[in-house]
Amino acid sequence: MAIVTPIEAPPGGRRQLGLANPATREPIGKIEVQNAHDVASALKAARQAQPEWAARSVNERARYLTRAVQTLIERQDEFIDVLLRESGKPRTEILMMEIYSACDVLTYYAKHAVGMLRSEKRPLHGFMRLLKKLRIEYRPLGVIGVISPWNGPFILSLSPTIQALLAGNAVLLKPSEVTPYSGKLVGDLLEAVALPDGLLTVLMGDGETGEAVVGAGVDKISFTGSVKTGRSVAESCARQLIPCTLELGGKDPMIVCEDANLDNAAGGAIVGAFLNSGHVCCGTERVYVVDEVADEFTQKVLERVARLRQGNRGEFDVGAIFWDRQLEIIEAHVADAVAKGAKLLAGGRRNPGFDGLFFEPTVLADVNHDMLVMQEETFGPVLPIMRVSDQNEAVRLANQTPYGLGATVWTRDGRGGIELARRIDSGSVCINDMAVTYGVLEAPFGGLKSSGIGQVHGPNALRDFTHPKPILIDRFGGRATAGLYPYSFKNEARIQQLIRILYRSPLGRWLS
Ligand code: NAD
Repeated sequence: MAIVTPIEAPPGGRRQLGLANPATREPIGKIEVQNAHDVASALKAARQAQPEWAARSVNERARYLTRAVQTLIERQDEFIDVLLRESGKPRTEILMMEIYSACDVLTYYAKHAVGMLRSEKRPLHGFMRLLKKLRIEYRPLGVIGVISPWNGPFILSLSPTIQALLAGNAVLLKPSEVTPYSGKLVGDLLEAVALPDGLLTVLMGDGETGEAVVGAGVDKISFTGSVKTGRSVAESCARQLIPCTLELGGKDPMIVCEDANLDNAAGGAIVGAFLNSGHVCCGTERVYVVDEVADEFTQKVLERVARLRQGNRGEFDVGAIFWDRQLEIIEAHVADAVAKGAKLLAGGRRNPGFDGLFFEPTVLADVNHDMLVMQEETFGPVLPIMRVSDQNEAVRLANQTPYGLGATVWTRDGRGGIELARRIDSGSVCINDMAVTYGVLEAPFGGLKSSGIGQVHGPNALRDFTHPKPILIDRFGGRATAGLYPYSFKNEARIQQLIRILYRSPLGRWLS
């Protein structure tokens, strides 16, 4: 049984998708796939609502988010139930990754938005400082299309949406068809705090709806999802000359050095690989461990894996695979590795104890770069461990995939760890932790190579949903430019003299 089952459109009606709980296979409901016509109506409403919203102060916009935090806390059990039904992940993971993160993101941006979006007076250099004044205004772009994936279905829909809104934009949000009800919670939350009508529309549907949002005539796309879809989104944005931010997949390496604390490294490896059933964009997808500590590290990993409890009710550590199609990819990667000589140290199959979509936490050894599991995103509870002769080989192999999202380094050598981190071709690196950069809102998070374009969070997070508009004011009412003509040989000689005085001496540098 599939989690997402296409249902033929009734005559004159819309296509539907049937949804079932991945942990129990119980039906959840059906959604209608919204089409280009629905998207166009939502865009019209957004265009009408946005100017009045943009005219409000940032503080006023932020107050909606502050109220949303209180609503979320009051209604968290209702939200958790929706997330549990669609994802089948442990309640602890929903609390940490969805509810706590949502409160953190809402509170942080509500508090800092005024500072991030405040108009700036920027001092000028050289002679310009005598002649002009510069202001930068952060002008909203208009309507932002937010397209989100299924692995963090609430937080990955909420975070870009509230950033775009705070910056003065309207939003069309298209959550994943695998977890549409969790994405719709964003709309429910902001409706509960009476966000003005039309400012946010949640559009339900699959790729057809997503494509309609991208092509509708919005002013920017904020996309989180796979490399394949990201590429087609980027192509469409390029044709329309609109900006896009692409947060795409990864194949994050973990490097375990000879001096690492092996207990912590083993604990970090299993959290990195099995948290959220392995559906973490910056999760641990492959481990390179230096030969002299490889046996001990692997043993410690296996001891911890043996203690993990898989389940769908009560207390458990690892939940279901969220999506049937992902389960097929995970199985294919493990089968390919085993066929090419990898050794299964744990798991490696669907868990026969459950009806739902469960794959046992899996550890592979004797892996190499000819295997899919070391080259393509597995996005499941699979931990391949590869022995390497030294740190140089680890870095060389870590850089040998088309991805570059995150990476982790485990070492007791503070300086050496930073040096190693610098050499890895990735958007971010964590030293002695699993990849938690996404949750650190001060850190710009995004991918290199095929893992994406642009960054979320960091000091420019909100500004990336605006056009930074310079307003240049002449201190003398435009007298200098107005008196420019007629050109003369005498003036040319003066200009040449000035260039010599400035740039043949330290004066030019001093004024710059
Ligand atoms: P996906 O690309 O299949 O779908 C993402 C979204 O795009 C969904 O809402 C989908 O309906 C929509 N979509 C599909 N076709 C479209 C089209 N032609 N035009 C516009 N929209 C379209 O990805 P997924 O399977 O939902 O998500 C998993 C992927 O997301 C993984 O690769 C994961 O690493 C990545 N991800 C990245 C980050 C990050 O921050 N870098 C975070 C979470 C997930």
